[in-house]
Amino acid sequence: MDYKAAENIQDLQYFGEYGGVNPSISDSSTYTFLSAKTMFDTFEGNTEGCYLYSRHSSPSNLYLGEAMAQLEGTESANVFASGMGAISAVILQLCDAGDHIVCSRTIYGGTYAFLKNFLKKFNISTSFVDITDLEVVEKSITNKTKMIYCEAISNPLLEIADIRALSKLGKKHRLPLVVDNTFSPLSINAAQLGADIVVHSLTKFINGSSDCVAGAVCASTDFCLSLKDVNDGAGMLLGSTLDSLRAASILKNMRTLHIRIKKHSENAHYLAQQLERDGLKVAYPGLKSHPGHETMKGQMNDEYGFGGLLTLDVGSLDKANALMELMQQKKLGYLAVSLGFYKTLFSAPGTSTSSEIPMEEQEALGLSQGLIRFSIGLDNDIHSTYMAMRACMETLGILAKDSAMV
Ligand code: PLP
Repeated sequence: MDYKAAENIQDLQYFGEYGGVNPSISDSSTYTFLSAKTMFDTFEGNTEGCYLYSRHSSPSNLYLGEAMAQLEGTESANVFASGMGAISAVILQLCDAGDHIVCSRTIYGGTYAFLKNFLKKFNISTSFVDITDLEVVEKSITNKTKMIYCEAISNPLLEIADIRALSKLGKKHRLPLVVDNTFSPLSINAAQLGADIVVHSLTKFINGSSDCVAGAVCASTDFCLSLKDVNDGAGMLLGSTLDSLRAASILKNMRTLHIRIKKHSENAHYLAQQLERDGLKVAYPGLKSHPGHETMKGQMNDEYGFGGLLTLDVGSLDKANALMELMQQKKLGYLAVSLGFYKTLFSAPGTSTSSEIPMEEQEALGLSQGLIRFSIGLDNDIHSTYMAMRACMETLGILAKDSAMV
């Protein structure tokens, strides 16, 4: 991969109204027109550079959209009030009543619930498949299928989608490949690998401060404009609009994304290696033991590493809960959902972010109740963190006291 996303984001240089080094924040919901004709033309979508109403677009949202387009190397990008706002708009834009979707069986619980439960209202059905088995993916395509949907690194099981191969399959069947790249910004450039539409929850690594929810769709200009269409655009009409003030603060945080991702990956990789050596059941795409390791290696940007997420299976929900509570007491992180914060966040997905998935299905996926998902923080001394984590596991009997130290 030679796409220079971070450099392209850094090169976006704006001047504020008074020459400030950050663009001015737009503080208006509506905009004046010097002529009634221009207003009409703008509603018809026939003017460029004119703002009509901030649910449609605002200068601050366009700046953030530009940075997101640079991140994925797409023609355009629209921002949304949340990741789910972005995901639901894309799906509803592409599907009509009665259509069908082929989707990875391991995805974020909210997306799963939207596809499985909410879309029943429109008689839109989804086949949830093992996205790493291309034969199964192809076999599930029907004449009603409108898209292939997956996460580049899946939540919470960290399955790796082979984006090049899925894109080839999508092209063969004239289906767009929609990839949620929330877990791997910069590490994976999904659009460069062939994804037609890339969605992000900006709430996570991209903003990195756990202080807001936001989302984005990175795609062709045509598709982004269709989402904004005043007559039938899912973005415009469902109204999941990001506030300008938030768009401006996310853009500022994006300036340091490249540094943060490297550190998240470095820390997660170190911990995963240590925990594996201790004989624990750890999953991390950077480990050779991970089933998606080679696929990840073949499609990642080496300098950003294998990402900041790892999972640890401690055997039972009781043990998982006890470990998370103790780790929080010892200030090793927060027992909280979400990811991409400076501090490590941990939660048991079976009873939190994936609880929308029925228990039998969780079991079939290999999502056990003792599984803890860690979003590893930006700790300056990750070895000390590891030692403290180890001590917690020894206290709880998850790790034998005399287990070999390396
Ligand atoms: N996609 C993934 C992979 C997620 O983990 C999440 C939330 O956890 C979302 C999408 C939804 O994002 P948001 O909470 O910003 O709506």
